[in-house]
Amino acid sequence: MNRSAEHNGKGSIQPPFHKNDEVTLTIEDLGSAGEGIGRADGYTLFVKDALPGDTIRALITRTKPTYGYARLLKIETPSGYRTAAKCPVARSCGGCQIQEMEYAQQLQFKQRKVREDLIRIGGFDPKTADHVMHPIVGMEYPWRYRNKAQIPVGMRGGKLCAGFYAGRTHVIIPMEDCLISSPVCAKVQAKVLTWMERYHIPPYDETTGKGLVRHILVRTGKAGREIMVCLVINGRTLPHAQELSDDLFEIPGIVSFSVNINTERSNVILGRELRILRGRPYMEDELEIMDAAYPDAGGEAVFTPTGRSVRYRISPLSFYQVNPYQTVRLYSLALSFAGLTGHENVWDLYCGAGTISLFLAGRAGHVFGVEIIPQAIENARANARINGIRNAEFVTGAAEKVMPEYLREHSEDAVDTVVVDPPRKGCDIVCLQTILQAAPSRIVYVSCDPATLCRDLKILTADGHYRLQHLQPVDMFPQTASVENVCLLARK
Ligand code: SAH
Repeated sequence: MNRSAEHNGKGSIQPPFHKNDEVTLTIEDLGSAGEGIGRADGYTLFVKDALPGDTIRALITRTKPTYGYARLLKIETPSGYRTAAKCPVARSCGGCQIQEMEYAQQLQFKQRKVREDLIRIGGFDPKTADHVMHPIVGMEYPWRYRNKAQIPVGMRGGKLCAGFYAGRTHVIIPMEDCLISSPVCAKVQAKVLTWMERYHIPPYDETTGKGLVRHILVRTGKAGREIMVCLVINGRTLPHAQELSDDLFEIPGIVSFSVNINTERSNVILGRELRILRGRPYMEDELEIMDAAYPDAGGEAVFTPTGRSVRYRISPLSFYQVNPYQTVRLYSLALSFAGLTGHENVWDLYCGAGTISLFLAGRAGHVFGVEIIPQAIENARANARINGIRNAEFVTGAAEKVMPEYLREHSEDAVDTVVVDPPRKGCDIVCLQTILQAAPSRIVYVSCDPATLCRDLKILTADGHYRLQHLQPVDMFPQTASVENVCLLARK
């Protein structure tokens, strides 16, 4: 019998299964969060940790009229795409949703997901999608890429521990070493825990609001050259700070140790106040500029070093891309797409600490960076200074406010190229309309969310003045379901 949803005669649709029913099903697809999708008697189920090609036994955990969720109980026949998880806590952590999938398949999954969004949400026809999309830029070694870790500290079974919050809860699961993070993070974590045990420093307890140490924040430069540690504490002072600082400064490359004061009873990680206990208030990183090109139309991107690089100062609280190896490629693609010859007036909207702006500045006439967070703009100005860049100007404010106001007052100024790199929710509609009015010859869109990117591409191409020329997925987050994209829209 096909048990897909049935009407109950009263107008509402009844799911064919109940919570706690056990079913056998074969997984056919992956959802956007990396969960397996299959059908049991015609009824669609989403199953975490299951892969296309797996035949599984699953327990139904939640039902909706037309689909439901189930928990993987047993893999009866494994998918040909399966590989053993490297990390012992891959499933309970949930940070790496697709770690059990071979890397080549992970890349194909991401490529397909972007293509589907471009067709379904962007409204592009399949032929155009295939014409503009290039094969995803993957990593040669898809591990140990993260330059940042925020590690919660707490008690578990009477023992001090640090690790991660088990999927959607605030229960800490102990973990000594995260395999997608720099090994330095594990070293710092071990030193902090040893120090806490030795001096009886209590970890923070969310239920009582008591205790001191909440999170260990570690950031590293590319290849771990410079290291910055910040301890988030529920109090104003850190006892035995000198001892911890001495221990930490034994780690080669450490340049900064600070505390962040967070006495709020909320699950926001960082408080506002930062105190430097030793070293500098920032670390430095350096990203090399590459030339990105497509020797074969529609083929893979090829990167060649230019011998030039940009230095960045990153303070404990500022935004910085977490995968420096792929960031170099992402920014280099953005630079190539911008097609600069040295004279252009460029806007870099959502510019953060000016990271992309400074990549562009060397080949532009003038760059305007716009960003809503004032500290990030301070970082951007300092970054321009340390690189000797004088043709980049940074403005604090919302992109959708700053750009229209500026253009009203300086209507004679041409805008040649606009780069946008918005957060997950995509660009504000006023921002998109302003870009269309400014009529730059190129628009470069960097995005961490394919769905909102495709929604915005539909708007930007609607009146027919812009054509989508290249769409390049970049795997910034191997082992997870996320995918970054950079694309070029050219004015016809
Ligand atoms: N291009 C930068 C930052 C990208 S993250 C980089 O690659 O490092 C997106 C940035 O957009 C964040 O710094 C966020 O603070 C900023 N932002 C969010 N909403 C904004 C808005 N309405 N106007 C301008 N900037 C905004």
